[in-house]
Amino acid sequence: MAKHKTHYEDCDVLVVGGGMAGTGATFEARHWGRDMKIICVEKANIDRSGAVAQGLYAINCYMGMQWGENQPEDHVRYARNDLMGMVREDLGYDMARHVDSTVHMFDEWGLPMMKNEETGRYLREGKWQIMIHGESYKPIVAEAAKKSADKIYNRIMITHLLMDETQENRVGGAVGFNMRTGDFHVFRAKAVIVAAGGASHIFKPRAVGEGMGRTWYAPWSNGSAYALPIAAGAKMTQMENRIVLCRFKDGYGPVGAYFLHLKTYTQNANGENYEKKWYDQTKELVGEYIDHHPTPTCLRNHAFIQETMAGGGPIHMVTTEAFQDPHLETVGWENFLGMTVGQAVVWASQNIDPKYTNPELTTSEPYVMGSHATCSGAWVSGPEDLSPPEYFWGYNRMLTIDGLFGAGDTVGGSAHKFSSGSFTEGRLAAKAAVKYIEDKKAEGLKVSDKQCEDFKEKVFKPLETYTVAQNEITGGTVSPSYISPIQGLQRLQRIMDEYVGGIATNYMTNANMLKRGLELLAWLEEDLENVGAEDYHQLMRAWELKHRALTSQCVTEHTMFREETRWPGYYYRGDHMKLDDDNWHCLTVSRRDPQTGKFSMEKVPVYHIVDENEKKKAS
Ligand SMILES: Cc1cc2nc3c(=O)[nH]c(=O)nc-3n(C[C@H](O)[C@H](O)[C@H](O)COP(=O)(O)OP(=O)(O)OC[C@H]3O[C@@H](n4cnc5c(N)ncnc54)[C@H](O)[C@@H]3O)c2cc1C
Repeated sequence: MAKHKTHYEDCDVLVVGGGMAGTGATFEARHWGRDMKIICVEKANIDRSGAVAQGLYAINCYMGMQWGENQPEDHVRYARNDLMGMVREDLGYDMARHVDSTVHMFDEWGLPMMKNEETGRYLREGKWQIMIHGESYKPIVAEAAKKSADKIYNRIMITHLLMDETQENRVGGAVGFNMRTGDFHVFRAKAVIVAAGGASHIFKPRAVGEGMGRTWYAPWSNGSAYALPIAAGAKMTQMENRIVLCRFKDGYGPVGAYFLHLKTYTQNANGENYEKKWYDQTKELVGEYIDHHPTPTCLRNHAFIQETMAGGGPIHMVTTEAFQDPHLETVGWENFLGMTVGQAVVWASQNIDPKYTNPELTTSEPYVMGSHATCSGAWVSGPEDLSPPEYFWGYNRMLTIDGLFGAGDTVGGSAHKFSSGSFTEGRLAAKAAVKYIEDKKAEGLKVSDKQCEDFKEKVFKPLETYTVAQNEITGGTVSPSYISPIQGLQRLQRIMDEYVGGIATNYMTNANMLKRGLELLAWLEEDLENVGAEDYHQLMRAWELKHRALTSQCVTEHTMFREETRWPGYYYRGDHMKLDDDNWHCLTVSRRDPQTGKFSMEKVPVYHIVDENEKKKAS
C-alpha cells in the first residue's frame, strides 16, 4: 500500500462527477457559498465527460415560460403520463420552474442556440425541445464549473463514500484513486453531492465482440451514482424502471429530430402502420393508459417489440419522403454531426442513403437512468414549499443520509430532466447543500485515518490479487485464482440479460427468473472479491464492475417487488402481465443494510400534486 501515496483534501462541498448535474452543482455552490471550499471530482475530464461528452443537437427540457409556451404544471403532466403515472411531481415541478433560467445562462455563455426567424424565439424541435448547435455544449458548462470550483480533480474515480463517526447516518466525504498515477485520494467534506450519471452495460448489449461499446448510453456510465449511496445505506426508488430506447439500428443515432422536426414516421416491413395493430392487445394490458396523448414511450416500444416478435420486422423509419426537401435533408445529417457521428459512419458502411433507403430501427438493451424517459435513482427530499410530509426531510435533494445530496441521473422519481434539467437539479442540490452547511448541520464531523486506510486497502486489492494470481495463469487470461474485469462484466450482463428482462428474452422476466438471477448475482458478488487488475486502467474497470454489480442487485430486487407490468416495452413480468393500479399505483423504495447486504422494500404513495392543487383551488 505504501507505494500508493495518499492525498488529503478537506472541503465544504464535494461534487462527485462533473457531467451536466455536477457542473451545475459546482457553479451554483459558488453562488451561494462565496467563501466555501468547493471541489469537483471527475472520473474522466470534465471538458468531455458524461452523456453529453460528444455534444447534443437539442436541449430537451425548456418550458419557454417567458413566451407562455409551457408552464411547469404542463411538464409534470407530461412526465407523469409518459411514466404511466409514476413520478415524484414535487421534484419534477421544482426542476421545471427553474429550468428556463438555466437555459438562458447557457445562451449567455455562448452556446449557439437556433432561433425561429419569424418569432425570434428559440427554435422548437418539439413541445419541450429547442435546437442548438451543441458540439461544444459540454466544454461550455465545464468552463462555468472550472471558474467556480476551488479545484477540479480529473481522472479520479470515487469508489466509496466516507461516513461520519460521531453521528450515525451522516456523510463525511468520499475516497477514490487517480487512474493515471495510482494515488489514493481522501476528500473529507461537510456535504457531498453525487452526480455520477446512470448505468449502461449492466444488461448485455446488442453490440458484442468487435462492436462492444457501441451502445445508446455512454459506456463509461457505470452506476456509481447508485452504488455509492446504496453501499452507504441510502434509500433508492423506482430502480425497476429501466429504459429501453427505440433508435436507428447499430449506430443508436437519435430519432427525436427525425420524428419531431422532419416529421418522419415508422412502418413495418410491409409498409404498414403497425402501432395501430397492437392497440387492442395493449389496452388489455394497461387499460386507458394507451389512449393517453402523447402515447407513453414504453407503449410505443411495446408495439415495436410485439410486431417484431410476430414476424413483422424489420421496422423502418420512413426518411425517403422528408429527405427530398434539401433543408430537411441537411437537418437530418447535421443532427448526427452534433452528437452521434457514428450513425453516419454505420449508414455509409451499410450503403444506406436515407434519401433513397428507409433505415432500420431497433430497440436497445435496457439502461438505468434517472434523467431521461425513466426515473430510477435515489429517494430524496423535495422542496419545502411543494412536498408532502413523506417527501420532505429538511433539505431539497438530500438523500436519506444526512449531508448527502444528489442530482441528475442520481435522483429517482423525476423523469424527463435531460441535460438542462440535470444541470438545474445540480443547482438546486448545491443551494440546499450550502444551506445545510450554513445551518451548522455538519459540525463536529469525524472521519478517522483508520476508516480511510481500510478503504485504501479495499480499493487497491484487485492489483494485489492480480500480482499474486498471475503466477497461476494457465493460458491467456485464465487463472484459477482471479477473474478479470471483462470476464466479470460479461458474466454480470448475461445474468441480467437472461434473468432480469434483457434482449435475450424480449424483455421478459418473472418471479422465478428473478429469484434465480438474485442467486447468481450473489455468487458473482462473492467472486468479485477476487477480481484482478493488471494496471490502473483495469483497476478502474474493476471498480466500475463492482458498482455495476451492486446497482444490478438493486434493480433485480425492485423488479421482483413490483408485481405487475407497469411499463410494457421496458420490461414484462410474465407472471403479472397486466398493469395493476389497485395494488401498484405507488412508488417502490428500497434500502440495503450496509452490515448484512440485505435489501428491504416498501411501497410509498405517489401523490398527484399538480392536479390535486388545481382541484383544491377550484373548490
Ligand atoms: C445518448 C443520449 C442522448 C441524449 N440526448 C439528449 C438531448 O438530445 N438533449 C438533452 O437535453 N439531453 C439528452 N440526453 C440526456 C442528458 O445527457 C442527461 O440527462 C444528462 O447528461 C444527465 O446528467 P448527469 O450529470 O446526471 O450525468 P452525466 O452528464 O452523464 O455525468 C456523469 C458524470 O459523472 C462522472 N462519473 C461517473 N462515475 C464517477 C465516479 N465514480 N467518480 C467520479 N466521476 C464519476 C462521469 O464521468 C460523468 O462526467 C441524452 C442522453 C444520452 C445518454
